[in-house]
Amino acid sequence: MAVSCVDAPSEMAEVAIRKEDQMDHKQLWDAVVIGGGPAGLMAAGELAAAGHTVLLVEAKPSLGRKFLMAGKSGLNLTKDEPLDQLLAQYGTAAPVLAPMVSAFDAGAIQDWARGLGQALFTGSTGRVFPKQMKASPLLRAWLSRLESQGVIWKTRWRWTGWQGADLCFDTPEGAEQIRTRSAVLALGGASWARLGSDGAWSEILAGQGIALAPFKPSNAGLMVDWSPHMRAQFGQPVKGVKWQAGRSASRGEAVISERGLEGGGLYTVSAAVREGADLHLDLLPDLAESEVAKRLARPRGKASLTNHLRRSLNLGAARSALLQEFGRPLPQDPGGLAALVKALPVTHAGLRPMDEAISTAGGVTWQELNADLMLEKYPGRFCAGEMLDWEAPTGGYLLTACLATGRWAGQGAARYLAAQSPKA
Ligand SMILES: Cc1cc2nc3c(=O)[nH]c(=O)nc-3n(C[C@H](O)[C@H](O)[C@H](O)COP(=O)(O)OP(=O)(O)OC[C@H]3O[C@@H](n4cnc5c(N)ncnc54)[C@H](O)[C@@H]3O)c2cc1C
Repeated sequence: MAVSCVDAPSEMAEVAIRKEDQMDHKQLWDAVVIGGGPAGLMAAGELAAAGHTVLLVEAKPSLGRKFLMAGKSGLNLTKDEPLDQLLAQYGTAAPVLAPMVSAFDAGAIQDWARGLGQALFTGSTGRVFPKQMKASPLLRAWLSRLESQGVIWKTRWRWTGWQGADLCFDTPEGAEQIRTRSAVLALGGASWARLGSDGAWSEILAGQGIALAPFKPSNAGLMVDWSPHMRAQFGQPVKGVKWQAGRSASRGEAVISERGLEGGGLYTVSAAVREGADLHLDLLPDLAESEVAKRLARPRGKASLTNHLRRSLNLGAARSALLQEFGRPLPQDPGGLAALVKALPVTHAGLRPMDEAISTAGGVTWQELNADLMLEKYPGRFCAGEMLDWEAPTGGYLLTACLATGRWAGQGAARYLAAQSPKA
């Protein structure tokens, strides 16, 4: 089944500046990679390294926009930890991702980034970052390598489907049809649509009979309807706590914002919250409840409860404010108060909207793919990156799987091409 080309002019048409177009539009490409994020760039490099002609196509005016955004928070490339620990972060998708991530693990990712001239450092928690704490130098070096490998790219080209075996694009110059022997789709998830990952591809694939798991926000902040008392805390970090939702727990930080709570500590447990688990906060994870109760039982004198809490527990302003906000009216007895300090129920209005999430769960289901990440129903068409049905917490796990699956799909496509009859 083929979907027909969409003829509607691109939204970019008015603003696009026509570039000198040196591409032979009748050319039969060995591979077309669609999506210029980390997964697509990786696949393009693998295909070019295997000696194939590669056209890389991106809907936005430039490549790697979400990758550059990830660089704004330092670009956590991977997590330097034992492979089994790293794989466990992919939950139910760990068994399928295992061969891909094992073949391009945290060590290999660091070698690859260093090979592109990037000095790296590993934080105390094992998170690996470029020393420059941004993505642009790495992206520049990566694109220059792809260019030297002969990869041609087109931006402002939006893939709209297939016409028979040909790929259809909506471009500033109108509809284009490209002939290719194979394709790698690396179209991203469904958050931060303004950076290109709008999930619109799901309609095309669903129309082709590909089973997709619904998109869901992953690594998302929480909406909280704060009382006016909390205004003074907006922008304050919440440190030294433990977030607990179902069986997910995290000792990471979050920030109190006008709209709620956000940050890595919370993102780690956001999948469990999304699935309906109650969220609790341990405000003093290094103290046993009995010790907290003992300290609270010290004579209070004339001190207000707030002052008593401050003196006996040293909670700090942000944690004290959260205790008041979520625990009001606070129990007066030390035992009841200690129980609340150790398991404060976080009252919230759900996760932030999906478009604001760092990543999304859902996408192309594994049953549609063979071991090379090729669509079983459509030989020669591969998928990679966040568009596949997996999720993981922040901490470098997202880019790790995007790079590993991009590489794997590129290598799979190269093997597919090698197994086909000689080029037409
Ligand atoms: C604020 C933020 C910070 C992050 N920080 C980190 C971090 O530090 N560490 C980490 O591991 N991860 C981080 N991530 C997540 C990481 O950036 C993504 O998981 C990763 O970029 C996904 O890679 P991808 O190649 O699969 O998809 P994307 O990077 O989303 O790329 C997909 C590309 O496909 C293009 N596309 C989509 N549809 C079409 C179409 N029809 N035609 C042509 N092109 C199309 C899009 O424009 C896009 O450029 C962060 C994300 C955000 C939003």
